[in-house]
Amino acid sequence: MIWKIAVIAAVAIVWLYELYLSLLSLRSKNNAIPPCVADVYDEETHRIRLLYHREKNRLSMLRATASFAVEIVLLACNAYAAFAGLFSENQWVQMFAVLLLSAVASLVTIPFQYYDTMRIEQAFGFNRTTVKTFVFDRIKEFILQFALMIGLGSMLFGLHRSFGDWLILVFAAFATLFMLFITFLYPFFSRIFNKFKPLEDGELREKLTALLEKNGYRVRAINVMDASRRSTKANAYFAGFGKMKTIVLYDTLVESMTPDEIVAVFAHELGHGLHKDTLKNQLLTFFEMLILGFLAWGTLKILPLFTAFGFQDINYGFALIVIMSAEFALLAPLFGLLANWFSRRAEYRADAHAVKEGYGEALISALKKLARQNYSDPAPSPVLVALTYSHPTLAQRIDAIRVPEARK
Ligand SMILES: [Zn+2]
Repeated sequence: MIWKIAVIAAVAIVWLYELYLSLLSLRSKNNAIPPCVADVYDEETHRIRLLYHREKNRLSMLRATASFAVEIVLLACNAYAAFAGLFSENQWVQMFAVLLLSAVASLVTIPFQYYDTMRIEQAFGFNRTTVKTFVFDRIKEFILQFALMIGLGSMLFGLHRSFGDWLILVFAAFATLFMLFITFLYPFFSRIFNKFKPLEDGELREKLTALLEKNGYRVRAINVMDASRRSTKANAYFAGFGKMKTIVLYDTLVESMTPDEIVAVFAHELGHGLHKDTLKNQLLTFFEMLILGFLAWGTLKILPLFTAFGFQDINYGFALIVIMSAEFALLAPLFGLLANWFSRRAEYRADAHAVKEGYGEALISALKKLARQNYSDPAPSPVLVALTYSHPTLAQRIDAIRVPEARK
């Protein structure tokens, strides 16, 4: 019984923490706006932006509460064990059954996602997703997520059976490889959701190629992705390992920015490449997976944790659910604090590289455009920044680009 209370309490704390983050975000509207970002929004846009954020935050609080309610009912009623009891006693089947119920329960967020995309994003002019695209996206997402959980669960099962107490290290190593594999497959995954075509010849293509070659990279392809099918929001990224790079530009970015601004964004991305930030992130991922491995090892040792929820024996699917939604979720804020601090420092260094390439002012105007397009908060709460921001605030970045010594 004590385990049942502990797990439910952990899930409740995770939910309260999510509400707290939304409240912090809602309350930042009263913060003073730094002078260097005062020109990002005019008064009317600023007013609309506040309405947008209020709607978004309220919805995310409702969504978190709905997921929490479903999770609590399933846990309190021993629904996982009851559902698994309908099937054969084979432990693989038992794992599949628990993960299936969990995946189906996660569908409770779909109405909220629908309201988010079709009502809020629509009302504020961001949305371009049709109902058909939305439905197919959710189906693809469901299949991918379920496959991911089955993959992790099977790995946990197999490794625990074969390696016993070595589980921690072996799990961390395998999970990191698994994550790398997912990163490696990302370009293929994105082809499930989007279409790509090569960037036309011209100033932009020449400048991007020149910048990359100057820094010792080779460009495999520069592709434009049809992001405008879903949203007006803009982005860009590098894909591929090592020195061969594929550049992906959202069509929304190409439409809304000057060639210099886009090249400035890539000079920033190159800064990440030169500082081996991806590699450092992978080390951090390994550390995270080590914690996950430790939690998995500990969880599988506690039979009463499973019997408290109606199981006869340990269940690998249920172990995964408890680790993800209670144990690891409880540690996530601490880990986020550390990881985001590292990440923000890396962002400053990447910006500094863009400055070095002579794209400082172009980067500032690009960042301002991105902020405007995404309705970013010009003056977020410092607590929220510390806990959840992987990038420094716009004002902090502009200050550091203009006066590097002012870096906070
Ligand atoms: Zn960056």
